[in-house]
Parts: sequence; C-alpha cells; structure tokens
Amino acid sequence: MSQRKRETICVQGGWAPKKGEPRVLPIVQSTTFKYETSEQMARLFDLEDSGYFYTRLQNPTNDAVAAKITELEGGAAGMLTSSGQAANFYAIFNIASAGDHIVSAVTLYGGTYNLFAVTMKKLGIDFTFVDPDASEDELQAAFRPNTKAVFGETIANPALTVLDIEKFAAIAHKNGVPLIVDNTFPTPINCRPFEWGADIVTHSTTKYMDGHATGVGGAIVDSGNFDWDAHAEKFPGLTTPDDSYHGLIYTKAFGKGAYITKATAQVMRDLGSIQAPMNSFLLNIGLETLHLRMPRHCENAQKVAEYLSSHPKVAWVNYPGLKGDKYHALAQKYLPDGSCGVLIFGIKGGREESIRFMDSLRLAAIVTHVADARTCVLHPASHTHRQMTDKELLEAGVQPDLIRFSVGIENADDIIDDIAQALK
Ligand code: PLP
Repeated sequence: MSQRKRETICVQGGWAPKKGEPRVLPIVQSTTFKYETSEQMARLFDLEDSGYFYTRLQNPTNDAVAAKITELEGGAAGMLTSSGQAANFYAIFNIASAGDHIVSAVTLYGGTYNLFAVTMKKLGIDFTFVDPDASEDELQAAFRPNTKAVFGETIANPALTVLDIEKFAAIAHKNGVPLIVDNTFPTPINCRPFEWGADIVTHSTTKYMDGHATGVGGAIVDSGNFDWDAHAEKFPGLTTPDDSYHGLIYTKAFGKGAYITKATAQVMRDLGSIQAPMNSFLLNIGLETLHLRMPRHCENAQKVAEYLSSHPKVAWVNYPGLKGDKYHALAQKYLPDGSCGVLIFGIKGGREESIRFMDSLRLAAIVTHVADARTCVLHPASHTHRQMTDKELLEAGVQPDLIRFSVGIENADDIIDDIAQALK
C-alpha cells in the first residue's frame, strides 16, 4: 500500500480492528498479562519473543497510539512516555551517560533547559548551548570528542525560533552523532523533521496532539536512519552486549528498532515513566482531529499576529507567519503549511504593562499550559522560566516583557475583540 496521507493516519492509524474487535481503540486497563507456561514468560523477559507482560514496559493501548505517531512522523519505531519531559530525558539518556556531552540549541522550553542545564548536569552529562542561528563553524566549535547528540526544538517554546534542521543535521552527522528534534509545536501535520535529516523526534503530546488539555504525555520516534554501528565506539549501549539481557546487542537483534527497544526494555524498565493507558486513549481521540485543528490554529494565529503588529500599543510581535519575522524564510522552507498557534509579543511600557494587559483579558485564560483548543496566555519570565536569570532569559530568547499567546480554535474575531478590549 502507498504511504497513507497524514489526515488518514490521524483518524485510522495505529488501530486496525479485526473481525468482532471494537471499532474504537480499547483502553487495556491492566497492569499485567497472562501466559500459559513459565517458559513463555521467560522468553519475554529475555526479549526472545515479543509480547506484553507488564504495563511499565509495554501496553497495547499505548503501543497503538505510539504506532500512530510513528506513522505520522514517518519513523521506524516509537514509544509513549508519561510526559514530554520524560520523552526528552529518555531520548538523550538512552545514548548518553556520565562523562558524555550534548550540543543543544539554547532556545528551549524552560523545563527542558532546567532538565539539561541542572538535572542532567548532576548526572554527569554536560551540555553546550548554542545559538540556533550560529554559523556552521560556530556550531562545530561546540563539539567535543565525547559529544553524543545534537538537540533542538523545531519551533522553540517560547522564543519561536525556527530550527534550521538541515544545518543542524549536517553538523551532527559530520560529527558522527544523531540530531534529536522536539517537534511539539508544529506537530507532524506541519513539519516532519525526518524528511530534513533529523534522526529522532520527541513530543510533549500534552500540547496540540492531545489538544484538549486532558492528559500529560510524551512520545519518542526513531527514524531508524542513524547508523549506530558505524559509530559503535560512541554508542556502546546499543552496539555492545547488555548484561541485563544476557549479553544481547540491540543493533544486532533489532536493527532499525534498536534505539526504541533499548529505550523501552532498559530505560523504561528501570525508570518507569510510562504513559497511563487511559491517557493514551485520550491522546488518541485528540490525534483523530489534529489535522483539522492545526490549520485552524495557524489561520487564527496569523490573524491575531497581523492585528497585533498594526496596533500602536504593541511594541513588537514575533510569529514565523509574519512576512517581516526573522524566521519567516526558514518557516516557509520547513513549515510551508503553517507553523503553530503560538505567538509572542510585548506591550509598550515593558514588563508591568504586559502583565496588566494579561490581567485584563477575558476570553484568553492565564494558564501554564500552551497549545490547545482554548486560547491561553502566559508571561514566561514570571512563570515557566522564572528560575532563569535575566541573562539566561535573554539567551533563551525570552524578553522580560514577553507575552506568550497561544491562539485557540475559537472564532478569530472573538479572540481579537478580547485583545482589543484588554489593550484599551
Ligand atoms: N517540549 C516542549 C517544546 C514543551 O513546550 C514542553 C512543555 O511545555 C515540554 C517539552 C515538556 O512537556 P510536558 O509538559 O508534557 O512534560
């Protein structure tokens, strides 16, 4: 069968019921699975047979949803995690350990920055943060002999920088390491990073994929394209025997499934950040309309961005869809159908006025969350990024007056009316 279109995958991917099976993906609300002989179960524990035995490792509902996201991204294998944080941690921890080093774009979600710069540093994994607009020479200077991956967000939260995926993939591959891209904001409806050379994609499914703010979740998808064996000395966890599975070598035993099998059978087994089957069921319902919601988010955000940029009280607006935006050209290349529903701007008068504006909104709600059906708003310097110093904030592309406005799928006129009355 030819490759299915994204719209069809959103609706039908992951779950293809056979005769007499439920049409809707069932929630397999069971921690454990039954076998008839001890030998059958033993073979699962040795990874000699595939099958379910404990939901901390795998669950049929989760697997169906992971398969849908994997197909949407055009990947080889995928898995769900309990959150986007867990997805980004696992994606790196699966191939890096104490003494290793990662190169990451500095424009990141604040939680990811903390995870990398503080928590993973405590685990002995060092990060060098680079300007996403750095030249190839500048990027090259960030690499060390112990570098194990390059990381970036397709559209950074909240800086809205657009990652030049081809440039980052080329430099990663030149140095024999994979490019990991957090594709949360555009979703595979608007960008498929594998088509531009990325090797691994992560998601906070909590955002547009779920779309209704009902469940925290994450996903990791592997393209299957990175040749771990060609750089075997850098990735011993994948290319040398795993003592916890009687000396099994992931790349030999699982080929294109090696990275995700290791992340499941070893990292998930030991750290246990599995998505609850109930949450993945809700995520699946969200995914069924992702292809309808994303264009509407983008259309509404474009109208809001144009309104704001012509308003005399607004100091600045960043949205990749605006012609004058610094990232417009990159957005046209990587996100030709639209970027996302999130835009950022500042009110004349600085931080205090921006906060006063937010407090005057009626339809747009102040919430930590971003990227769902309802319009919402946040002041990152006071909320998600409040741990960062002013210098770190500016490096991460977060001005103190920055308002992050997540445009929902309501009627754009109502959203603009709300902004107008708050500005007044
Ligand atoms: N990545 C991005 C781009 C995000 O925006 C977020 C959360 O806002 C995360 C990762 C973390 O995801 P979660 O909140 O699901 O743990």
